[in-house]
Amino acid sequence: MSLRNSSFLLLVLFYACGTQAPQMLNLDTAKKLIQNYYEGGLFDKECAEAINVGIAEIEKLKLSRNSAVVFDIDETVLSNYEHTKELGFGYVYDLYEKWLRQGEAKAIPETKRFYNWLVQKNIKVIFLTGRQAGDFASTKKNLLNEGFTNFDTLIVRSEQTRKIPAAEWKAIERERLTKNGYEIIACIGDQWSDLVGGYTGIKIKLPNNLYIIE
Ligand SMILES: [Mg+2]
Repeated sequence: MSLRNSSFLLLVLFYACGTQAPQMLNLDTAKKLIQNYYEGGLFDKECAEAINVGIAEIEKLKLSRNSAVVFDIDETVLSNYEHTKELGFGYVYDLYEKWLRQGEAKAIPETKRFYNWLVQKNIKVIFLTGRQAGDFASTKKNLLNEGFTNFDTLIVRSEQTRKIPAAEWKAIERERLTKNGYEIIACIGDQWSDLVGGYTGIKIKLPNNLYIIE
């Protein structure tokens, strides 16, 4: 077969594959899979694995008085799973805001274990969340009620920074924290936007099969 013929064949194959219907999953089946994942122990198991790797990496570091770990909040420290499930695994902005302001989200157990380990090692804890300024009070109350009583800072989005993409905003805040003297040794989050850009240290990525923030 000539080069020209084989290129043509590849082109035909490419288009043939491109027109194939993707393998579909019934929405009810998908919801059941998600529910089993979160309620059957697999979510906790995957969190534990990611956190154990992170702890092993941190243990290799030489720590300073200003060593700090940056935590995202939603689906990292606090779980919105119950709220999402109540809506049939949906999202409604106003209802979500109302839920945040109730401040009743439960701690994610494996993250709580990691937090306890850091506190016991005298490593500083910083919360950096895309939640808005109006959610500050309920978020703080929620964290305290769930036992996160020992942290340095809770940073939420100001009105002026609302339009900046999540990853970019978090990197700006981490740079500011570093310039203020913190040595960020690790970041933990459920979205890659929590973990890209500078000043992250070790990256601990938790699973999130509910939504993606870009
Ligand atoms: Mg999150």
